[in-house]
Amino acid sequence: MTDIKDLIHTPTGQMLIGGKWVNAASEESIPVEDPSNGATIAQLAAATEEDVDRAVAAARAAFEGAAWSRMRPIDRGKLLEDIARKIEEHAQELALLESYDNGMPASMAMMVNLPASAEIFRYMGGWCSKLGGKTIPVSGDGRAFHAYTLRQPVGVVGAITPWNYPLAMASWKLAMALAAGCTVVLKPSEVTSLSTLRLVQLMHEAGLPEGVVNVVTGFGHIAGQAMAAHEGIDKIAFTGSTATGKKIATAALGNMKRVSLELGGKSPSIICADADLAQAIPGAALACFFNSGQICFAATRLYVHRSVYDAVVGGLAQVVESFPMGNGREATTMLGPLVSQAQQDRVMGYVEKGKAEGADLICGGETVGDEGYFVKPTIFGNTTKDMTIVKEEIFGPVLSVTPFDDMDAVIKEANDSVYGLAANIWTNDLRTAHTSAAKLDAGSVWINCHGIVDPSMPFGGFKSSGWGREVSEEGISLYTETKSVVAALEDQQFG
Ligand code: NAD
Repeated sequence: MTDIKDLIHTPTGQMLIGGKWVNAASEESIPVEDPSNGATIAQLAAATEEDVDRAVAAARAAFEGAAWSRMRPIDRGKLLEDIARKIEEHAQELALLESYDNGMPASMAMMVNLPASAEIFRYMGGWCSKLGGKTIPVSGDGRAFHAYTLRQPVGVVGAITPWNYPLAMASWKLAMALAAGCTVVLKPSEVTSLSTLRLVQLMHEAGLPEGVVNVVTGFGHIAGQAMAAHEGIDKIAFTGSTATGKKIATAALGNMKRVSLELGGKSPSIICADADLAQAIPGAALACFFNSGQICFAATRLYVHRSVYDAVVGGLAQVVESFPMGNGREATTMLGPLVSQAQQDRVMGYVEKGKAEGADLICGGETVGDEGYFVKPTIFGNTTKDMTIVKEEIFGPVLSVTPFDDMDAVIKEANDSVYGLAANIWTNDLRTAHTSAAKLDAGSVWINCHGIVDPSMPFGGFKSSGWGREVSEEGISLYTETKSVVAALEDQQFG
């Protein structure tokens, strides 16, 4: 097993501003834990407002500098492709680093995160030379005009990312911003910054000019808040909890910066009476328990037609009890620890609420071992819509299962949430599948599958799950401003 010391290539306790590794102005640092045993494995610089100012100044200078602003779009596209290749060359190392930092199985990171990170750079690289405006026939006052739109980069982007998929979330934002021609100040989660620091180091090795991407590590309420309020930042791209998203939206009002928000979820799975249970049972289990439930689009509310309820609940318990749990660096591990003690405590608090509010505990409901932050995959049956575990985002391995009788009623119940990030439905009836997809309040609906996220498909949420969409053509458009230009081709008859 590779030792963490052999995986950390970035200078300890430093961050990258203007292409240089620097200490925080405060000289303070934040310890980083391995969630499988609680050991301290690294230190991060604890950035303050002063460091954010420095990073914004570096990003602004790079935005205006020739190296970036005059780089030919086709060359920017090639740079993004080179970054994708760098990620692929370092995939194993990055996956292990992610596992040490976040707890997720390295095998899962290899299968999901690393391809997602490389592919978004490759996909967005293609957009560099294709982002263009339109010529538009305008009526005006009857004279001839030449009218067209320009798509211009929004400017300096402040990107703030969460701890659950550190590398993929950073890659999404960086790839969109760079493809649009923006420069970036990126703040990863203070819990999981290691893979992001390494990613940005590799991006510089691939030829990224200095100052185009700056990383500040630090606490959200200090460095993140300073970014959200900063007058020198033109757009904030945020992924994280809805509570933090609201604070960011409020702080961003000062200079009316653009804001895109990818927030929390409480996504429903629906298993219909005619579903293929051999697919639906493991499918619904993975939809909830993948990455130990620490996924924004985890489908944590399962609605099952009463006629197949017992078969599904029995099958689910069998499937989740077979998931090997352990240290994320073991090849066989499917469920790693939760990211931190705080997260373990939070999840166990919800488990206790589920028991106290009368849900049937079908399996799990306890922590595992005396070191690390493990929680057994937990299923509650016969849950009702008023229970806390059905209403609130837990962000851990906890599934609530509710029987249903009628399709219209279950769609209504699935939509009865402040969130609207994703949903899935398991059925063999085409009409049920597509009419339900149209009725579900969710940014992504998956039919007989879950979690198929692709760089070319818009991703984002309805309601309190966010503002705007990420990736795809829609995602990159949120990193541009549209300018309308109208030129008179004939003189005006004044007076
Ligand atoms: P969080 O909101 O606590 O933190 C996210 C980021 O925001 C971190 O970098 C944190 O330091 C920073 N932050 C915290 N307070 C801040 C403030 N006042 N101002 C500015 N920045 C601040 O979220 P988390 O616990 O890291 O991640 C889990 C949450 O993220 C869950 O709610 C999950 O659903 C959500 N998430 C959503 C998506 C999506 O695409 N919709 C993807 C992943 C995670």
